[in-house]
Amino acid sequence: MPGAAAAARSILTQLHEVMAARTHAQAKLNRVVDIIGEALDSEVCSIYLLREGMLELFATRGLNQSAVHVTRLGVGEGLTGTIAANIETLNLDEAATHPEFQYRPETGEEKFHSFAGVPIVRRARSVGVLTVQHVDPRKYEEVEIEALQTVAMVLAELIANAGLVDEEDLGERQGAQSGQVVLDGLQLVKGLAYGKAVFHQPRVNIEQTVAEDTEAERQRVYLAFDKMREQIDQMAGQAEFGVGGEHEQVLETYKMFAYDEGWSRRINEAIDSGLTAEAAIERVQQRTRMRMREIQDPLLQDRMHDLEDLANRLIRIVSGQLGTAATMGLHGDSILVAKNLGPAELLEYDKRRLKGVVLEEGSHTAHVVIVARAMGVPVIGRLRNLRGMVREGDMLLVDGDAAKLTLRPAQGVLDAFETRFAQKKQRQAAYAKMREVKPVTRDGQRVEVMMNAGLRDDVGMLNVTGADGIGLYRTEFQFLVSAALPQRDRQTRLYRDVLETAGDKKVIFRTVDLGGDKSLPYLASDTGREDENPAMGWRALRLALEREGLMKVQARALLEGAAGHELNVMFPMVSEPWEFDAAKQVFTSQIAYLKKRKHKLPSAISYGVMLEVPSLAECLDILLPKISFISIGTNDLTQFLFAADRSNPILAERYDWLSPSILRFLSRVVRECAGQPVDLGVCGEMGGRRLEALALVGLGIRRLSITPAAVGPIKELVCSIDAAEIGSAMQGWLANPPKDLRAELQAWAEAHGIEVE
Ligand code: PEP
Ligand code: MG
Repeated sequence: MPGAAAAARSILTQLHEVMAARTHAQAKLNRVVDIIGEALDSEVCSIYLLREGMLELFATRGLNQSAVHVTRLGVGEGLTGTIAANIETLNLDEAATHPEFQYRPETGEEKFHSFAGVPIVRRARSVGVLTVQHVDPRKYEEVEIEALQTVAMVLAELIANAGLVDEEDLGERQGAQSGQVVLDGLQLVKGLAYGKAVFHQPRVNIEQTVAEDTEAERQRVYLAFDKMREQIDQMAGQAEFGVGGEHEQVLETYKMFAYDEGWSRRINEAIDSGLTAEAAIERVQQRTRMRMREIQDPLLQDRMHDLEDLANRLIRIVSGQLGTAATMGLHGDSILVAKNLGPAELLEYDKRRLKGVVLEEGSHTAHVVIVARAMGVPVIGRLRNLRGMVREGDMLLVDGDAAKLTLRPAQGVLDAFETRFAQKKQRQAAYAKMREVKPVTRDGQRVEVMMNAGLRDDVGMLNVTGADGIGLYRTEFQFLVSAALPQRDRQTRLYRDVLETAGDKKVIFRTVDLGGDKSLPYLASDTGREDENPAMGWRALRLALEREGLMKVQARALLEGAAGHELNVMFPMVSEPWEFDAAKQVFTSQIAYLKKRKHKLPSAISYGVMLEVPSLAECLDILLPKISFISIGTNDLTQFLFAADRSNPILAERYDWLSPSILRFLSRVVRECAGQPVDLGVCGEMGGRRLEALALVGLGIRRLSITPAAVGPIKELVCSIDAAEIGSAMQGWLANPPKDLRAELQAWAEAHGIEVE
């Protein structure tokens, strides 16, 4: 037997001719089994194809011809069915000894002892099986199996081109074959959603497997490797690649694979056998997948993900299909499947069709999660091995409330989910009734329930929810969705629009909070530095104060956009009072400039800060006389107080917002602000959860700014609280913290008839 490459090439050359011939599909398949049988010197060669959910014998050399289109096996039935079901290769010297062996008398196969079969795979699913059989009881050699596997790839193309398997049908059937799977993850955004799985970075469909010019294919792969390595090296310098402590390890593995000579050599060998560059990469990947499955080492399987990621990237580079699913557009209700996403990437999706997001990573306060929450899209994170289990087009049920993802649900499960979905919609409609209700506690304390926004369309939610205003308008979202720094007139237009839509409701504009996990390629490129710890790095006000063109332009845009309106400006990440002074100064000089030119100014201007860096709390006495309001950003505050990266999935559940440290910190700020002419509120995600909001009211917080979807539920909660009662309970717990404050508070709420779920 010649080498694998030569064996495969000789078969591929002949197959190429068959595929190009103008005969009908059946004649082509008949010819294919002859070619393979002869090349492998095998007495039997058969092709089974999936039709109406059964594997049907479509062509054979060596078995009884009368069995063609008569012998049919279920997926998972017999040796052939097992190969299709598990997408695995079998190589047996004595077929009958295999536990799944089934004898089909009509085929006349009893005289053949040895058996080998490989799945014919299209879009990661079996569409058929290619088998060879021999009278002598001997195992097929490795090179023969490899040749068969290569041929199976080409057959997949032939079969698809000839329309021999129904691609639409395929999704449903194989889904049924792999069955329902339920995965537990981390709740990131509550809510229910269902739809078809769409990969953020879709797998490329390989349309041509046999090469016309081997040298040209080799060159394509060579260039693609170069480009991929360049990308990986670039990623190494980018903050959003990997997280925290994992960062280096992940990166190292990626680099190791990207520069692995063995990998590129194997791809080159596959090209030698006559495959196109794309097919060669996929071929090598298939082989690696099969090997990994045999090893079953969880650590190695983890690494397999990285390799899959890279192989997919390489195929996309080689085929020039570089876009994400967003650029291709969503069709129908979709659930986005990704390892992780940036906020800007999520914003690229069509909001009407994107129903849910499921991630392998993710954490509560990562900005992508905040954006998803603002979009009203449920998110489940930390679903290990997700991309290995889901296939494009699978039906997915996202239960963000229970942090459960169901893949390929059985019909009954889908029906029950749809019923829950409808009930939830009804409940939401009930919350909509809260729209007109003023949030006042049972003992008469008015709590302002405002909403967070950042997209132009969010502002409409003011009316839908009946929120008291916008307590946090994240102006950086406009920057995140733009390909270049938004010009001043675009900013002005947005701010004017927002204020006009909000009418007489208050809007607090936060100046840009870029950097951290909200990095922008057009900002990073000209800085000449890369932050090792972006969350604690050159971000938000630190960046804005140094970038002349940023803060000044935004100040002008805000002042002009708010001409004739009340303008409330809030600065993010103020760590020391002088930063507030410097930021305010930018506004003061812009006001002077506008005055000089007799431009119309806002009717009133107030300045405030976000309290999210703990150091600021030490200087409140200096700061308070200068400002009109403070908004506590509990997302960042928590990460800085606990020194726990908010986007690190490993730390996602480690620290509780209801821990004595956070609550005591907040209580102290409330005390210091009491009696001062400064409005105090909380605008982190914490305030949008009912139990946490109960605690905040207990601490004396009277303004919450939360995600729009939470406004109804939180208003309802406020109306069910006696502020004095929870206030004194809270003081008791803070003085003498119980072991589990969350559990204590939960029990207290239950005892007082307050619904907190
Ligand atoms: C916060 O840090 O709590 C906050 C509201 O701001 P952001 O989430 O945008 O950093
Ligand atoms: Mg923040």
